Amino acid sequence: MAAILPERRQCRIMAEQPKKTLGLETVEPAVTPPPAEQEPAIEKKPVSPGTTRKRDIPQGLWTKCPECEEMIFDKELEENEKVCPHCSHHFQTTAYARIASLTEPESFEEFDADMMSVDTLEFTGTAAYADKLVKHREKTGLKDAVITGIGRIGSHEVGLAVMDFNFLGGSMGSVVGEKITRIVEAATERRLPAIIISSSGGARMYEGMFSLMQLAKTSAAIAYHGRQKLPYISVLTHPTTAGVMASYASLGDLIISEPKAMIGFAGPRVIKDTTQSELPEGFQTAEFLMERGLIDAIIPRTELKKRLNEYLDYLCGDLD
Ligand SMILES: [Zn+2]
Repeated sequence: MAAILPERRQCRIMAEQPKKTLGLETVEPAVTPPPAEQEPAIEKKPVSPGTTRKRDIPQGLWTKCPECEEMIFDKELEENEKVCPHCSHHFQTTAYARIASLTEPESFEEFDADMMSVDTLEFTGTAAYADKLVKHREKTGLKDAVITGIGRIGSHEVGLAVMDFNFLGGSMGSVVGEKITRIVEAATERRLPAIIISSSGGARMYEGMFSLMQLAKTSAAIAYHGRQKLPYISVLTHPTTAGVMASYASLGDLIISEPKAMIGFAGPRVIKDTTQSELPEGFQTAEFLMERGLIDAIIPRTELKKRLNEYLDYLCGDLD
């Protein structure tokens, strides 16, 4: 790997340099290439595949870490739950990948798998909502931005909802709100703890008021769950903002977050314009909010299952 990197970087740097034309631009190249049938002046010796350096490169794709700029082999990144093995940068992952890494094999039973959003307002803008839904369903293989169900973490059955940012920025419309409400209600009925893993840009503007109504509905279901003395753990991931942060994401008995996640309600520019004051650096990060008591713990993704299991042991002692 070390032998390959400098060459890759060099290629990129060279590609960025502007071409020198000396003021002469011609459509034809300065030197006309020889016709294909013409014998090359120097005969190239065939290179046996066994001696090429390409054989040393494992098949697959590489991803450049935006934080430390190391190249990571995709398979290695997948195996490490999409966390950079060099600097612990947490890449975006999918709802199903999270469920697979958190729950015991074969234990997850999905609820409302076929529930789909409808374009009630017939919203059109730069792109129609109906078209966006079709495009994101095809792109992600999901029906909407949350997967819910009941699964087992260690020995604990839990009502679990996991949002997926890849589907329309994890925005909360009627389906996200309804599925979360139903899984929390199912957890209440079965006397199970609830865990919601959030990742969202907020309420889904294409559904207008219908999206905003989900804030009250989900919050009411969580309040009822809490009144039955059942624990709810909210897990925040990058980013968790706006309507989702203003409802179920901030209502956990325990609120935990992945490292360096952006957490907030309004965007920094809106807050700055409204308050007419300078904002402290990093004020919308998980670390900043933990220092001030909103978040209880910051836990790397690779340790989340173990830590959730410990919290559930502690919180569910008298439920079983
Ligand atoms: Zn990194």
